[in-house]
Amino acid sequence: MPEVSTGDFVVPGDFLATAEEFVPGNGAYEENGKIYAANTGVVLVDARTKHISVFSRTAGVPTLKRGDIIIGRIEEVRDQNATVVIGSLRGREDRALPPPNLGSIHISQTDAGYVKDLSREFRVGDIVRAKVINANREPVQLSTVGEDLGVIVAFCSRCRTPLTRQGKKLVCESCGNVEFRKMANDYRKGVL
Ligand SMILES: [Zn+2]
Repeated sequence: MPEVSTGDFVVPGDFLATAEEFVPGNGAYEENGKIYAANTGVVLVDARTKHISVFSRTAGVPTLKRGDIIIGRIEEVRDQNATVVIGSLRGREDRALPPPNLGSIHISQTDAGYVKDLSREFRVGDIVRAKVINANREPVQLSTVGEDLGVIVAFCSRCRTPLTRQGKKLVCESCGNVEFRKMANDYRKGVL
């Protein structure tokens, strides 16, 4: 079985499957017996032909502007800001964004209240929904202030299991770890 399933959201370099089991299709490439995503997009696993592809149309590449809502993945969390790899733009999920697709969330743009410790709000690997507040800078400046913005999927820092929401907490059903995040109100509802 591949590491990923149809519908999973991936960014370039993500491991998809081994080359013994699958063949790289569109948007995927093989290196040293492993298949990786070449594009940002949604995985398509064809069990019949054993092709694994990453679905993202590059025609009509959208550019980001202020007010756009994006989906991305947290790549790094520092004291003052978190780095995000921007995966898709709401309403244009079928289109790949032009690289480098890097965004940054400043600690002051994380939540409506005062945030003391950014590593309590975001962790590496989290999938976030954020709003573009300045598209003219690189990285693009993002905000997760607002009930519908923030982490939509988070993973246990100890064992990488997707965390389950229990009120204001996130609980790992595998190891019992309890964590917190700046969650979107539809955390893990399967909505991008
Ligand atoms: Zn865990």
